[in-house]
Amino acid sequence: MNMKAAVMLAAGQPLVVESVELASPKANEVLVKIVATGVCHSDYNALHDETTPVPTILGHEGAGIVVEVGSQVKTVKVGDRVALSWVPYCGTCECCQTGKVNLCESAFGPMFAGTLLDGTSRLSRGGQTVYHNSLLSTFAEYAVVPEMSCVKLPEGMPLIQASLIGCGVATGYGAAVRAARVEPGSYVAVFGIGGVGVNAIQGARICGASRIIACDVKEKNLEIAKRFGATHTVNVSTVDAAEAIRELTDGHGVHAAIDCSGSTAAAQSAWKATRKGGTTVVVGAFPSHKELTLPAGGFHRMGKTLKGSFYGDVNPFREFPIIARLYLEGKFQLDELVLDRIPLEDINKAFASFEDRDAVNVGRTVVVLGGDGA
Ligand SMILES: [Zn+2]
Ligand SMILES: [Zn+2]
Repeated sequence: MNMKAAVMLAAGQPLVVESVELASPKANEVLVKIVATGVCHSDYNALHDETTPVPTILGHEGAGIVVEVGSQVKTVKVGDRVALSWVPYCGTCECCQTGKVNLCESAFGPMFAGTLLDGTSRLSRGGQTVYHNSLLSTFAEYAVVPEMSCVKLPEGMPLIQASLIGCGVATGYGAAVRAARVEPGSYVAVFGIGGVGVNAIQGARICGASRIIACDVKEKNLEIAKRFGATHTVNVSTVDAAEAIRELTDGHGVHAAIDCSGSTAAAQSAWKATRKGGTTVVVGAFPSHKELTLPAGGFHRMGKTLKGSFYGDVNPFREFPIIARLYLEGKFQLDELVLDRIPLEDINKAFASFEDRDAVNVGRTVVVLGGDGA
């Protein structure tokens, strides 16, 4: 079929909205009509990455309606409303067998190669291969995706809000609920208040944390953090974060610190701010040339845990419907994360906003492709 898509032709160049050919889904794949798709900072990074296979269609946060299923597909049917996960899992690799489906070994090769799980693409233009991105490519009217990327949504879940669940929302929520296992009445610090951090705050709030300390360099972001459940804020550009957090926690530090910043300095502060026996979770991606150093003195006596978390340790089939139900019950804020709604033709405006240092980046510009259920 022919469809309209925003195509990345070369690194750093604006996307071009044009007609692209999409082949039918194979046995374990699903054709989804994309209704809404968020523009994530990772899309911006991919657009400026010389190693991104081109031409490609970016976009990995989406929601839509199933319009066709492959012969082996069992979990969704035509007409189902789904949110998409960019970490499909195989169920048979060692990570899947030990319950760590967010670390599934089958997804990474295709993710870097720009294909679907079988190593090939369903996308082309003028006979030339167009690569997938994150096994989804949602900046288009339709997408062929793995069955294991399609998570059926509960009745009544609006698709604009649902489009955000599959990336920053799940990662932040999961970092607090699954990776840090925040307990009722505990103290939590979240470093880096962006599209992930603000949802770690929401996860901590839902777990019943009694103090949630938001840490960031931008005063504007700290103000936003309060609207999502932060009880205290620390501007880390003006004070020693670990010290300030100890003062706010009766001198002991937090039970859980969650670093969403991607800064090794922030992760070090998060570690120092974590109390004896507590847990530091690192969600942000560090630059690959950096090393993380921690104080060695008394390390064993502190009994602390340092844990990296990919995709918030979530299982999409468990967490996405939970988050949607929490939203429908008024317990999880998603409306506030939709900063703007734009047509596909305006997608480059969303990318330009990442270059504006004063722009509010706690939330998403959502491309709305229209159709039923938006
Ligand atoms: Zn994303
Ligand atoms: Zn697997």
